[in-house]
Amino acid sequence: MTAEFRVDVETALRGAQVDTGEMVHCLGCTAQLFEGRPVTVIARTRTGGWDVEAVFCAQCAPDELAGVERRDSEGIALAEAELATVTRRQQVWLSLVLVDVLGWIEPRR
Ligand SMILES: [Zn+2]
Repeated sequence: MTAEFRVDVETALRGAQVDTGEMVHCLGCTAQLFEGRPVTVIARTRTGGWDVEAVFCAQCAPDELAGVERRDSEGIALAEAELATVTRRQQVWLSLVLVDVLGWIEPRR
């Protein structure tokens, strides 16, 4: 649980893609979340880099990672952020801005 790891996660999640399109559903209540909305995300290092695997609205946001399933080789993180729409070459996706990492578990090597 090092501060350096927290900074690495924050850097990796800043600008990370959440989903394609301009809207994503909260995993808890299925509310539609758009650009500018505050969200809480769970991200995981399953593919080597950080992938956003779950997005929650403010009401459904988990406040800790306890109980989230993970493999020893994976890092996971819980972060607050805001959604931003990115448009590039006629592709549209949502990414994370204003990332604040709340909790994390480093991969066990
Ligand atoms: Zn929700």
